[in-house]
Amino acid sequence: MLIKKLSREVINITPLKNEITSLTQSFASKQIEIFRWLHQHPELAYKEIKTGKYIQEYLESLPGVEVSYPVAKTGIKAVLSGEKSGFSVALRADMDALPVKEETGLTYASQAKAMYNGYETDVSHVCGHDANMAIALGTATVLSQLREKIRGKVVFLFQPAEEGAPTGIDGGAIRMIKDGVLENPEVKTVLALHANNTCYPGQVMVREGATHASQDSIFIRIVGEQAHGSQPWSGKDPIVAGASLINSLQTLISREVDLQKGAAVITVGYFWGGVKVNIIPEGADMGLTVRSLDPDNRDILIKRIKELAHLKADMHGCQAKVVYGQHYPLNINNETLYQNLLPTLERVAGPENMLYYLSSTKSEDFSHFSQKLPSLYMYYGTAPQDKPLAESKLNHHPEFRVDKAALEFATRLECNMLMDLLENPEKLPGKK
Ligand SMILES: [Zn+2]
Ligand SMILES: [Zn+2]
Repeated sequence: MLIKKLSREVINITPLKNEITSLTQSFASKQIEIFRWLHQHPELAYKEIKTGKYIQEYLESLPGVEVSYPVAKTGIKAVLSGEKSGFSVALRADMDALPVKEETGLTYASQAKAMYNGYETDVSHVCGHDANMAIALGTATVLSQLREKIRGKVVFLFQPAEEGAPTGIDGGAIRMIKDGVLENPEVKTVLALHANNTCYPGQVMVREGATHASQDSIFIRIVGEQAHGSQPWSGKDPIVAGASLINSLQTLISREVDLQKGAAVITVGYFWGGVKVNIIPEGADMGLTVRSLDPDNRDILIKRIKELAHLKADMHGCQAKVVYGQHYPLNINNETLYQNLLPTLERVAGPENMLYYLSSTKSEDFSHFSQKLPSLYMYYGTAPQDKPLAESKLNHHPEFRVDKAALEFATRLECNMLMDLLENPEKLPGKK
């Protein structure tokens, strides 16, 4: 992690700065209550029913906020209208939890269970989406009290299914976009803040350009011809063909893509076929995830994986069927937006608390927003302050927990960024 000192052109500081601070502070204890309720009611992708209702009812209690529910099956769009005219900016908070048993030992730890892939599983908010939501609700609360001074509108997007939708179903971000959440009012830019346990409350992580890799799921079935295991010459062995393919796939990364443009990864997450030691099966299946931080490399990989699958299958007298699954594009932080919001971030967090994060081969479906509009995706620190940072458990770990001090800080950050943008329309990048 690099710490970068920043001194750039300063965006006009919102005159609401002090009011934001005092309103955020006075909401802090209620916000912790909201966070704990959400923490105790975690729900999986597209099952965010109690969560959605809770958020809907809360937002409907705020003055000047118009709520649309449901959107994208279990999500919410809420528009906070300032009393002065202006344009619209959106803020996205993700809603879903994970099939993980929480092991934090907290008094308010999740006891929730749900069905997942046909099995009962424990469910918990080990990615901090409970905090992301509580912060966005805090921002809506604070700004609703300032609406007579606000120019334009803030569109709150509570998005379901960020952690991945079932195969064949659109994830939450793309579904929200298809449902028209960026229209009426026309949104100019989208911001997102996400919990992160590699830094402490009060710290913020940001970068410009590519932040999260594109992600493609690819499913390959090698079809051979069943035979007795003792007489392989009488059939066509899809296991041998598949094994040969798996080894060759890695040469696409090491020999065919320009890694100077950005990292790329092919992982075969599963490869199975057959039921018994003495039967060569009729077919074998594998599932891949393909990541790339460069769109050209991504295109090469997608094309070459298919070609190689057919080639290797053919070499062994088999056939390959290649099916493309879920695609998340590359997430790009808009450079103009980044430059123009850095002074706000620096002002709220303090220059010593600005961290510059490295681009990642992980993916984020916020990328669908970033492909549509100039966007900025940032992390706020949530690591428990009672532990050394090295002992803090990262997102998706059963012992992941959010330090409550992060809530008030990130709410202040969101409010200041939104207000600085609405008051300075000339600072917004044009549409891509
Ligand atoms: Zn996650
Ligand atoms: Zn997330």
